[in-house]
Amino acid sequence: MGQMTLGTVGAIALLLTSSYAAFTASSGNAKTLPENRRFAPIQIEENQVSHQPKQHFNGGGFQVVYGPAGDRGQRFQNALRDARLFESLAEGLNSSNLNVPANIPIILRDCGQVNAFYRPADNSITMCHELTLDTVDLFSQSGGSSREEALEEALFVTIFVFFHELGHALIDVLEIPATGKEEDAVDDFATLLLLETDSEQVEEIVLNAARWFALQAERSEGSEIPYWGEHSLDWQRFYSIVCLVYGKNPSKYAALATKGILPRRRAERCPREYEKKLASWTTLLKPHFTNPNGTWGSPAQPPPGSYPPQNPPPNPRQPTPVPRW
Ligand SMILES: [Zn+2]
Repeated sequence: MGQMTLGTVGAIALLLTSSYAAFTASSGNAKTLPENRRFAPIQIEENQVSHQPKQHFNGGGFQVVYGPAGDRGQRFQNALRDARLFESLAEGLNSSNLNVPANIPIILRDCGQVNAFYRPADNSITMCHELTLDTVDLFSQSGGSSREEALEEALFVTIFVFFHELGHALIDVLEIPATGKEEDAVDDFATLLLLETDSEQVEEIVLNAARWFALQAERSEGSEIPYWGEHSLDWQRFYSIVCLVYGKNPSKYAALATKGILPRRRAERCPREYEKKLASWTTLLKPHFTNPNGTWGSPAQPPPGSYPPQNPPPNPRQPTPVPRW
């Protein structure tokens, strides 16, 4: 337990507090979102997934790229840019001990669909503004949240989704072996990475993500259940996250089990499940840290060749969305 000391991500979480304050202050325009927007099912475009070998660099890094957006998306993007939320996340990752052998652009844009995805062709992570804005609607319309609360919750969900996509990116560029469903593995990665930071706020981020899956499951009730999908079902993703939260700290989150949110038969296995998953991810990531202890903390010196990122950001005007979320 606890080998994956995520000091850097802890620092990120602290940054989120100030970023979020700026975000809420500048995002009043989001209240003009049309009500009752329909949820658009995500289409898988398998043929656009590139399996070509990638050119790797000695050192890489994360960089934030702002792409095109419509009126509503642009207002949100402006708020995001002012808040420097993703810049803070990128800086935190770039100054960590993680040695990333590729440049990973983080593209923030309108996509024409509610989505976020990792694209292996250029190692980019795309966070679609529609995902956050749809989540604002979902929490305010179905989750009983005020518009202001929904904004906060949607931002938390967006951060969780970013860490999920980061998991896909790291599995790809670090060639981390994954057996079983990669989608489950990166949900675990996002949850563990956040929970291993010592902050109340990260638990809130993770629990909001769980609640988001529950609301999505309720929203799609009556629709055909995609048993064929690469993702686990929304309720399964909900229970997996809640299990890790409980497993990390059963006494603090005893109510999850006693109130029946997490059935006891699962709850009793969760502490062990948390320990095993944390140990697995720690083992897999350890060789990719530049410090001998294999932890995320800030390096004494940046690894040579890490800065600045050496290949130019992709042209954000030519998206090929590969839904991976
Ligand atoms: Zn995914």
